[in-house]
Amino acid sequence: MSWEDNVRRVVPYVPGEQPDKAHMVKLNTNENPYPPAPGVARAISSMPEETLRLYPDPTAGSLVNALAERYGVSPDQVFVGVGSDDVLAMAFLTFFNSDKPILFPDISYSFYSVWADLYRIPYRRPALDEDFRIRPEDYFGDVSECGETGKCGETAGNGGVIFPNPNAPTSLYMPLDQVEEIIRHNPDVVVIVDEAYIDFGGESALPLVAKYDNLLVVQTFSKSRSLAGMRIGFAIGNPKLIKAMSDVKYSFNSYTMNRTALAAGVEAVKDDAYFQEMVGRVIATREKAKKRLTELGFTFPEPSANFIFAKHARVPAKELFTALRAADIYVRYFDAPRISDYLRITIGTDEQMEELYQFLEEYLKGR
Ligand code: PMP
Repeated sequence: MSWEDNVRRVVPYVPGEQPDKAHMVKLNTNENPYPPAPGVARAISSMPEETLRLYPDPTAGSLVNALAERYGVSPDQVFVGVGSDDVLAMAFLTFFNSDKPILFPDISYSFYSVWADLYRIPYRRPALDEDFRIRPEDYFGDVSECGETGKCGETAGNGGVIFPNPNAPTSLYMPLDQVEEIIRHNPDVVVIVDEAYIDFGGESALPLVAKYDNLLVVQTFSKSRSLAGMRIGFAIGNPKLIKAMSDVKYSFNSYTMNRTALAAGVEAVKDDAYFQEMVGRVIATREKAKKRLTELGFTFPEPSANFIFAKHARVPAKELFTALRAADIYVRYFDAPRISDYLRITIGTDEQMEELYQFLEEYLKGR
């Protein structure tokens, strides 16, 4: 017997690399290429150091109120955390406590299986269809559909559902009526819609929160609000869901949001005009990228996020990834079943994208 027998063993999530080079084109972690709203810098530089000796507001009231106002919900429907990873980790711990497996797609955000393993939550991963689409019926959990035979689908009586919309790393959006179908067919468990990328395309499920008390919508400041470095995420749901998450949070760490993050977050939420403009820029660059990448011989599912999941007609993705990296152009490559032919390319500035196209054009010559 050794202490090592009692260690909780986990295979951790592997984030994209964060190289620090004077000149690089960083298109590997879905960050926003533009700076955060100008009010953020002002808020940070005018923060009195003197206040740092005091704990921050454990309720994160200023940020919760700003989000409640922005999204037209009451403050008791808002939960904030240290990036949406923290919010999702708390949500898993709070809501996924059944012996039945939770459901998420086979190709999806790879952190889901890590949290499930960490918390020992059983899970099942329905396969995306051949076009990488989520099949809503694979997630129906209600037993009312079983009919008189009592024969239910494999997923009836699941322990909960989570999926990103748009999905990652495919960038594909599922129409809201299909999202609602999944929620409607899971009245007895919590359904989490991870909307990390929703601002770049598609309709949010937020309006459905008023209709379904088992729906939790999670979003982040890391992408559309250019604050990945600040670590801010949030969830909106029925007050009962939010209370349950807060109880777990206060049983873990009361002061998750530091003073700087709170001040920065409030400014980012307040400046809606800037937010709209930056999101619009990223979308415009994405639309150009679709054309340029197609000309270079790539195909991809229709992107709705700030990245494109692209496969080249002739050259293997791993080779392209390595060649790009050697030229200090960073994209993401997943050596995993079904997706090892694809590169996930974050949308950067027009100039960054131009460097990518130039390199690829040169590299692919004669291939
Ligand atoms: N959900 C999805 C689908 C993501 O791709 C990411 C980014 N890695 C996150 C959540 C977490 O983002 P953050 O913790 O920066 O809010």
